[in-house]
Amino acid sequence: MDLSENLHSIQKRIAAACERAGRAPNEVTLLTVTKSQPPEAIKAASDLGLIFFGENKIQEAKTKIPLCPGKLRWHFIGHLQSNKCRDAVELFEMIQSVDSLSLAQEIAKRAGQVSKTMPVLLEVNVAGEASKFGYPPERLLVELKELNTLPRIEVQGLMTVPPWSPEAEKVRPHFRQLRELKTECEQILGVPLPCLSMGMSGDFEVAIEEGATMVRIGTALFGPRPKMNNKEIQPA
Ligand SMILES: *Cc1c(COP(=O)(O)O)cnc(C)c1O
Repeated sequence: MDLSENLHSIQKRIAAACERAGRAPNEVTLLTVTKSQPPEAIKAASDLGLIFFGENKIQEAKTKIPLCPGKLRWHFIGHLQSNKCRDAVELFEMIQSVDSLSLAQEIAKRAGQVSKTMPVLLEVNVAGEASKFGYPPERLLVELKELNTLPRIEVQGLMTVPPWSPEAEKVRPHFRQLRELKTECEQILGVPLPCLSMGMSGDFEVAIEEGATMVRIGTALFGPRPKMNNKEIQPA
């Protein structure tokens, strides 16, 4: 596994997808997903110029982030429990996985306590999968205005983890659905929402063709994820 080679290849594929879609490559941000990767791997990615990093577990992030280069910008992309909001607000510069009004209220409360404003994305369960977190689209549309008026919360867009398929083309309708939902949200709020976080290792090119502004990539960069060994990274 050569991280630099993998990154180069991903960047080329991002640029080619942008070209096909008539978009500029700098419209798409690469979020490096480092769940289960050790701090050394994160340092190596940072040394290659990567800036935005994603983690999906608070406990893991809490242990690992302090051991990583300080200039990195961390996004939370996993399911967030309300009793972890305080940590999430402290550790992350964006929470991409807000999927209920009560969670947003808790984030707002915790952000207020540390005089911070928290940028968030609203996670949408586009295919209505029972096994997945995320807003059903209809409920998002109902709660959107109230979400957007919460103090200390800045709604910047939408995020989704669509149903997995070995064929990226099969995922396209879900990406399109999220883009259309974002447009609908913009009409309801009367403001543009800049961020559309969709696309992972297996399908990021299709996501870009459908308008992704952020793709979240782990495996295509680092290879298959190692089994987490918490003992290794926990300070004594
Ligand atoms: C793990 C994960 C990713 C990255 O998945 P890869 O297939 O390894 O690129 C993206 N988004 C979320 C929410 C994840 O949990």
